Amino acid sequence: MHCPICHHPDTKVIDSRLLLEGDSIRRRRQCSDCSHRFTTYERFQPQLPMLIKSDGRRENFDPEKIMRGLKKACQKRPIAVSQLEGVIESVQRELAESDQTEISAENVGEIVMRRLYQLDPVSYVRFASFYWDYSDIEDFVKSLQKQNKTRPKTKSKKLTTIKDQKDQRELH
Ligand SMILES: [Zn+2]
Repeated sequence: MHCPICHHPDTKVIDSRLLLEGDSIRRRRQCSDCSHRFTTYERFQPQLPMLIKSDGRRENFDPEKIMRGLKKACQKRPIAVSQLEGVIESVQRELAESDQTEISAENVGEIVMRRLYQLDPVSYVRFASFYWDYSDIEDFVKSLQKQNKTRPKTKSKKLTTIKDQKDQRELH
């Protein structure tokens, strides 16, 4: 941070304070050349990738739009709005941490659906069918099941079964 008076490139932080909302920090700085003191504010700003829709159009990630879809999918289900806010928050965090500048809307839909599935499988199926316009839900469910099957845990179980069969054969 340059000094606003003499433009010296080196300034010291002499005090940091987390502000009430918890998402910004106030810093008092002092120029190491002219000793001028000034204040800066630092605010957390998640960098979310742009969504690319199937027709190629781009749009910003819209938490409100996803919330509308989630609420519709969770109608008459025992799920609190705060849980849905948690879903959106974790999706946002995952997108921000991915460090991507662009992501397909379909991909975002899949991330939302995975989170929703953990919360409530019934709402998940509803969301997948009418909100994301998923052309083939069965394919998506199959791909989820396939991913579960390729986990090493299941694989080793399978190996044990084959070994057991072999042992049985040797017994006969
Ligand atoms: Zn200065």
